[in-house]
Amino acid sequence: MKQSHLFTKTRKDAPKDEVSENAQLLIRGGYIHKEMAGVYDLLPLGLRVFKKIENIIREEMNALGGQEVSFSVLQNPELWKATDRWDDKKIDNWFKTELKSGGELGLSFTHEEPITKAVAMQVSSYRDLPRYVYHFQSKFRNELRTKSGIMRGREFVMKDLYSFCRSEEELDAFYKEVGIAYENIFRRVGLGDITYLTFASGGVFSKFSHEFQTVSTAGEDTIYIDTEKRIAVNDEVMTEEVLEELSLDRNKLVEAKSIEVGNIFKLGTKYADALGLKYKDKDGKDAEVHMGSYGIGVGRLLGTVVEVLCDEKGIVWPASIAPFDVHLVELSQGDEKIRGLADSLYEELQAVGVEVLYDERDTRAGEKFADSDLLGMPYRIVVGRQSTEDSFEIVRRVDGLKKTVSKRALLTQNYGF
Ligand code: ATP
Ligand code: MG
Repeated sequence: MKQSHLFTKTRKDAPKDEVSENAQLLIRGGYIHKEMAGVYDLLPLGLRVFKKIENIIREEMNALGGQEVSFSVLQNPELWKATDRWDDKKIDNWFKTELKSGGELGLSFTHEEPITKAVAMQVSSYRDLPRYVYHFQSKFRNELRTKSGIMRGREFVMKDLYSFCRSEEELDAFYKEVGIAYENIFRRVGLGDITYLTFASGGVFSKFSHEFQTVSTAGEDTIYIDTEKRIAVNDEVMTEEVLEELSLDRNKLVEAKSIEVGNIFKLGTKYADALGLKYKDKDGKDAEVHMGSYGIGVGRLLGTVVEVLCDEKGIVWPASIAPFDVHLVELSQGDEKIRGLADSLYEELQAVGVEVLYDERDTRAGEKFADSDLLGMPYRIVVGRQSTEDSFEIVRRVDGLKKTVSKRALLTQNYGF
């Protein structure tokens, strides 16, 4: 991608009403556009990162045996009445709309009800279970506060997975596997060290649910971490009794602000029962379906990575989700030989599948470097007066370390850092 072709530009300042660091940096870099409070659009660079995160999650969901679907954002109130979740007194942040022909519709608050109903139409025997169904879909929530940038949107994409099992034991086993898949996901997007499995309030069925909380001063939650055991307790369930139950020592726990990047829940049979999902067991008797629900906010995860890994110069992407592998910056300033060197390197890198953002704009070196730091590609290749056919400077974004490397090293992405 040539930078001069991008319709987005970097900017010095974010909008004054944007207080969160993640959205400020993403807006300044041209990754996202702010429509209004709590509503953001993904621009080309932002969409590339989003899709990479989505793909990592998809790989982990498929490895669990998940089957991908795409459910509508328009929702039938009847299903939500069946589970007693339609009333605004029960769910206070619904977005609802009206049909011209009369009656109301819901705008996807979450998808337990419609997916459970659809599964109920397909499943009849013990042979049809267990099943795991997931999608990436927009959710709409009328959030009161929207101070956290893309970490708390009024519209956001969630990966939500639902498990349908024949027994509590089957659910328990799958629930554990999802926990491991979630750890893989957060590690792969670069948040492994600072994300903790956290005991949180459980809702209807189980005593606890589990959140995945990433430590950040920008977080809206407070957790208490046992750094040795690598688990945490959300302050909403932090009592002497709970600590005892989890064999945790209050004096060893470290308090921290954190961002809930994911949440996994056991739902028991409540939703399946309410929506008529059951199966015939081996003896032909009706049996109950045990469900679990597992969410990750894709945009929140993207915002969290920006928020916790950035530095004073800008965004720092982990290689796994960076929009491009390298930022190629040419400093020819009218020198055609240097420009030719950079142009052919760009072609050669692309030919071997390296994803390159090529800054070939006619701009001052200082400006190019500042933009490159703001945009945050993991590596920057500089082609300037010092460069030769087989010797280029490469800079690692995370720590500014520099090396002079051969073209072969660049083509094989073997920089030797
Ligand atoms: P929170 O406590 O932050 O309001 P929640 O508990 O209501 O979130 P869930 O319904 O459990 O969220 O949703 C699953 C995941 O979706 C969350 O773990 C989070 O990653 C993401 N998420 C929830 N609300 C938002 C939002 N408003 N904007 C972006 N992502 C969100
Ligand atoms: Mg939650």
